[in-house]
Amino acid sequence: MTSGCHARFLVTFDDGPHPNTAAILMQLSHNPIQQNIKAMFFVQTRNPAGGNSSLGRSLLDRECAEGHVLGLHTGTAGHVSHTALSEHELDQSLRNGMDDIRVITRSETMFVRPPYWRFNPDTLTGYSRHGLHMLLSDVKAYDGIDWGLHVFRQWTFHLQLEGIRRRLLRRELPTVDGMIPIVVTFHDTNNYTAGHLSEYFDLLIAESDRVGLQLDSKPFYDCASDITLAALPRTVHPVEAIEAESQPAEVS
Ligand SMILES: [Zn+2]
Repeated sequence: MTSGCHARFLVTFDDGPHPNTAAILMQLSHNPIQQNIKAMFFVQTRNPAGGNSSLGRSLLDRECAEGHVLGLHTGTAGHVSHTALSEHELDQSLRNGMDDIRVITRSETMFVRPPYWRFNPDTLTGYSRHGLHMLLSDVKAYDGIDWGLHVFRQWTFHLQLEGIRRRLLRRELPTVDGMIPIVVTFHDTNNYTAGHLSEYFDLLIAESDRVGLQLDSKPFYDCASDITLAALPRTVHPVEAIEAESQPAEVS
């Protein structure tokens, strides 16, 4: 790295809440790497398999009570791409999701991550109408699909972190409060993730070391307000988003 700035991982989760979320929350609080890590959960508030059940609602409450940040993934009954919705349907789904999150957190969510990472100028305009900022990701665990193999996890983290190191050398990533936030994405719905989150954290640190990416002594964000401040400059602006639109969609 060319500067004295260190990087810090901003951990995010998609598709929950899910019965796995309880194990994830426990490992965020207690793990051998860093105690009381806080995350941003992009949640499905009206999906019966997500937040629209008594278990789902209790897990959303718990995420908030334990100091994590809630962002919106879907406000529909299913995991539906925003690009498949009419303008009216998208508005309604965003309104529903934001209303649901406000009931839990007593504040407006500022962040959205689209299902399947699919977006276009119309959905971006819709997000803007609701004051939502779209946060994508720097490092993906690719755990929307269960690949199973440790060597795959190691290899994919290595490649992505090497790419980040090069972006840092080109000074392409912003510094926030002296720290370079690196957004990492997992999925609540993946059983392996739920059972091995600490190992993922270990792997992120080991592979950062291998590629020469200098991490802070506190390698993961641990405060909701810091997460919000760190995430905002990493949200995608419409011009960047339209340029990225040609990239292939991924499972999320
Ligand atoms: Zn998703």
